[in-house]
Amino acid sequence: MNIQSLLRENIKTLKPYSTARDEFKGTAEVYLDANENPFPSAYNRYPDPLQKKVKQRISELKGIEPEKIFLGNGSDEPIDLIIRAFCEPGKDSILITEPTYGMYAVCAGINNVAVKRVTLDSTFDLDVDAVKQALDSPVKVIFLCSPNNPSGNLLSKEKIINLITTGNSIVVVDEAYIDFAKDEGFLPVLAKYPNLIVLQTFSKAWGLAGLRLGMAFASEEIISVLNKIKYPYNLNILTQQVALEKLSTADEKNKQVDIILQERSILTEQLQALPMVERVYPTDANFVLVRMKDARNIYDQLIERSIIVRDRSTVVLCADCLRITVGTPEENKKLIETLKTL
Ligand SMILES: *Cc1c(COP(=O)(O)O)cnc(C)c1O
Repeated sequence: MNIQSLLRENIKTLKPYSTARDEFKGTAEVYLDANENPFPSAYNRYPDPLQKKVKQRISELKGIEPEKIFLGNGSDEPIDLIIRAFCEPGKDSILITEPTYGMYAVCAGINNVAVKRVTLDSTFDLDVDAVKQALDSPVKVIFLCSPNNPSGNLLSKEKIINLITTGNSIVVVDEAYIDFAKDEGFLPVLAKYPNLIVLQTFSKAWGLAGLRLGMAFASEEIISVLNKIKYPYNLNILTQQVALEKLSTADEKNKQVDIILQERSILTEQLQALPMVERVYPTDANFVLVRMKDARNIYDQLIERSIIVRDRSTVVLCADCLRITVGTPEENKKLIETLKTL
């Protein structure tokens, strides 16, 4: 597949901003090149624009070369950059499979890029034929979310590969919740598919939503385009430092994930036993989608009792559904005890 031919013309020819740190890459004694305040503090210098130390650690952890890694201000940044790199406003479109994460359509809307919507099947898996029928030449990017938000399930791997290998689009697989799934996801096959972009984040399993750090993995060709159009210093020094520290505590993250998975099965069982619960959908993520009698009313009553869940009842295929994040053992117990009183 020819990635260059999918890119917007102005992006292909764009000359990126060149930072002082791009022009001189060695180390020196005296830096008078960036108009910084010279008096030393932890933050007086600009951060590394390409976050080389953080990428090196992520590379070791994930087995992906640093040149195939992009880091952004949350995964929301690469979602926006991918749309801006490939979709000509007012002309090209993206395709999403609903119900799904809301940011794909919002970023497209901000960029005046049309959104084609194909509904998932009744098991929240891909309807490959329906997607293929909706594909036409203006569809530059397909966004798939696996495990899917808000349904929680992994999409079928064969179906995703089918979409990657047919058609002529970039396929983004958003794996924000992959650490909670018994599945290795798409990083092991990244090198096979030049049009594949995998998104992951530090916001969920890593417990760093407040840090705003997201990852995109793709061919060097695609990553170099994202690097060319990002803000030069998109990740500040603090984020890079904390990420480096946290990356050496993967054990702690894994332990927390184990507890969350245990709690997920307890919560599922207990929810299923409640009279108002009609269905707890199978999940590969750190949340469950639950269909209930009169979900909106239950949502309101939970708020009155100071428990906030996510009302998804107006979303396609999610009538009367609430999305509930797996909390600490105490929080989950409180939720169940409260639901029992309603
Ligand atoms: C939470 C979530 C993200 C994470 O976004 P960040 O900007 O990295 O916090 C990405 N995709 C999906 C589907 C999510 O649910």
